[in-house]
Amino acid sequence: MAQVNKKLIENILYDDEKAEAFIRKNDYGNAAKVLLESQKKEWPQLAAGYQSLDSIQVKAFDFNGFKIKVQFNPGRIISSSAKVDAKSINNRKCFLCYENLPAEQKGILYEHEYLILCNPFPIFPEHFTLPNINHFAQSIKESFSKLLSFSKDMSQHYTIFYNGPKCGASAPDHLHFQAGNKYFMPIDEEFNSLKDKYGEVLIQNDKLTVSGIDDGLRKYISFEGHSEKALINSFNIFYDSYSSLAKNNDEPMMNILSSYQQESGWRIIIFLRNKHRSSHYFEEGENNILISPAAVDIGGVCITPLEKDFKKITKALLQDIFREIIIGKEYFDFIKASLKKKIIQL
Ligand SMILES: [Zn+2]
Repeated sequence: MAQVNKKLIENILYDDEKAEAFIRKNDYGNAAKVLLESQKKEWPQLAAGYQSLDSIQVKAFDFNGFKIKVQFNPGRIISSSAKVDAKSINNRKCFLCYENLPAEQKGILYEHEYLILCNPFPIFPEHFTLPNINHFAQSIKESFSKLLSFSKDMSQHYTIFYNGPKCGASAPDHLHFQAGNKYFMPIDEEFNSLKDKYGEVLIQNDKLTVSGIDDGLRKYISFEGHSEKALINSFNIFYDSYSSLAKNNDEPMMNILSSYQQESGWRIIIFLRNKHRSSHYFEEGENNILISPAAVDIGGVCITPLEKDFKKITKALLQDIFREIIIGKEYFDFIKASLKKKIIQL
């Protein structure tokens, strides 16, 4: 914790026997649940955020073998319309740095370097932000192993997700993950049938299954298995192949969902992206649609912070938006071929 003001961070830490007992068993999922219940009582803004979830409107569209829900959630306006260009980021106070957190906010320290915090603008019935305690830029290459440990240690209740700095993170300058209830995103449940119906198994051995899936709306690579080492090695191979397609030295655009089950181990789903926001976001007047797709939207819960968009959205419009933001077929084929060739040599 060298770079951190110890006194300040101690002030934020949640001190509770019940949570402590779960932490001793490495059960951070249940510890987080205890934190959320307590924060709802102590922090009015958070309580209001959750209360507003009770009355939100949702509609669902059926695709061939899967669902996309649309959630009208006014609380998400700040995140969906966040300015993420370098200048705007430099001019604002970072909302994930511990010294800028609201006075009522408490957190659980995770492996000496991350905090588990309640998200005051929830999408999920239980929604957490997991920032590093230091102000580092969002980077999955540096933090993939932490994504795996979070997924395992919070697996009692939650799926962990990551949004790349150029495709959905509203704090691209501060390394963080998020966590939300398992099975809230339709893809959590649909994954196996989508893999059977639309997937191509690229690698399958006793340690690892890697698949490429194109369900007509989204293109994604999945990694499944019990071996942390095999997952990390194959992710690094994927990262390098995908990077070779990226412009500049930017992190290649991806949104990741990661979950863990005792019986089957980890399941990492990586959505491959072409751009952050579709042209609809930048339209003036009538044609404007404020949807800023990230992991949760692509996982099947698409957020519209404005009612006009919730009313207007159709299956055809969703298809238009996804067509723009998801990677093209040529690039996807390149990634699949490259994984087949390189992971087999591991
Ligand atoms: Zn920060």
